[in-house]
Amino acid sequence: MKFGTKVIHGGLEPDPLTGAVMTPIYQTSTYAQEAPGKHKGFEYARTQNPTRSALERNLAHLENGTHGVCFASGLAAMDAVLRLLNPGDEIVATNDLYGGSYRLMRRIYERFGVASHFVDMSNPDEVAAAINEKTKLLWVETPTNPMLKVVDIRKMVSLAKAKGVLVAVDNTFASPYLQNPLDMGADIVLHSATKYLGGHSDVVMGALIVKDETLAESLYFLQNAVGAVPSPNDCFLVLRGIKTLHLRVERACANAKRIAEFVRQHPTVRNVYFPGFEDHPQHAIAKAQMRDFGAMVSFDLHRDTFEDAVKVLSNTHYFTLAESLGGVESLIGHPASMTHASIPREDRLKVGLTDSLIRLSVGVEDVDDLIEDLDKALSAL
Ligand SMILES: *Cc1c(COP(=O)(O)O)cnc(C)c1O
Repeated sequence: MKFGTKVIHGGLEPDPLTGAVMTPIYQTSTYAQEAPGKHKGFEYARTQNPTRSALERNLAHLENGTHGVCFASGLAAMDAVLRLLNPGDEIVATNDLYGGSYRLMRRIYERFGVASHFVDMSNPDEVAAAINEKTKLLWVETPTNPMLKVVDIRKMVSLAKAKGVLVAVDNTFASPYLQNPLDMGADIVLHSATKYLGGHSDVVMGALIVKDETLAESLYFLQNAVGAVPSPNDCFLVLRGIKTLHLRVERACANAKRIAEFVRQHPTVRNVYFPGFEDHPQHAIAKAQMRDFGAMVSFDLHRDTFEDAVKVLSNTHYFTLAESLGGVESLIGHPASMTHASIPREDRLKVGLTDSLIRLSVGVEDVDDLIEDLDKALSAL
C-alpha cells in the first residue's frame, strides 16, 4: 500500500456493527460483560477503546511499524519511553530540541536518578563520545527546533546498536509523510499528534510507534498502568486529520520552499535556516532520509535586536503569532522569548539562536498571500 492510500485505509475497515464508513467515536468508559471475565475484548476504556485502537493501527501503518500506542499528549508519550529506564541509566539526547522534552529529562527524570547528556547530534563524534556503559537510550530529534539541523538517523542507529542502546526518534517536525525512522533502524518513533498528524490545531495528543512485540507490550502496559490516555473524541479528530496528511504536508513543503527563497533574498534578513537549501550543512543527509525538506523555516535579521523581531512578529496578518506548528494555518514565533525563553542567552547564542531569530510554521494557504504578508512585515523595518 502506498502512503496516500495508507492514510485513508491503513488498519481501518468500515465499522463491523453498522457499516459506518468513518470510525465511530466510542464515547464509553466501560463495556458490558456476558459473564464475569467473558467479554468482546473490551473491559474498561483506559485499557482499550475501539476508536483509539483504530487510530493506533493506522499510525502503525504510517510508520511501517507493527504497533501504535496513543497518549494524552506528545510529552505523555515521551514520559512512557523514559519510564522504560531505571535509576542509574543515562540518556544521550539532541541538544537543540523541543523545550518540553528537555524539561522532562532535566526537571523530572534527573530527580529519579536518570541523567541526560545533550550533544550536537549533527556531529556523530560528539554522540560517540557521550555514550558510556550506563547509556540506555539515544533520544534523537530531527529536524531540530528551531535551528533546523538534520541528524543522520542511520548513523545514530549504528552508533547505538554497537552498544545495545535503544534509539527513539521524535519525528514530529517531519511527519510520517516525510520520514520513517523505523525503516532506518530506530526502535521507537514519537509524534506529537498535536502538530502535523492532527493538522488542524484543534487537539493535543501523542503517539509512539514500534515494530517489536516486547517493546509494544511494555508500552501498552505503561499506557494502562500510568493512564495518560487520549479521549475517543480526540482520537476521531486525529484519524480525520491523518486522511489529508499527505496533501497538507506536500503543499506546506512547497510553500515553505518558496518562502525560504523569498526571505533569503530580503535585504533585512541575515541567515535563513532551511534544510532544502543546497548549501545547508546537512542537505545531503536530509535528501537521503526525508522525502521533502519540511515546512519549518527559521531566519534572523540584519539588525539583530528583540525590537526588530517584535516589529516583524506584530506586523504579519496571515502568519499568526503563536506557539505550536503543523496546522493548516501559518504561524510565526520568536523562540528567544517564547519556546526557548528558559535557555540562558549565552547558551542560546552558541547554537545560533539569536535575539532576532524568527520561526515560521508554513501552512497550506496560497503562497503568494503568505509572501506578500511577510514582505510587508519585513519592509516595515
Ligand atoms: C510539541 C512537541 C512535543 C510535545 O508534544 P505535546 O503534544 O505538546 O505534548 C514534542 N516534540 C516536538 C518536536 C514538538 O514539537
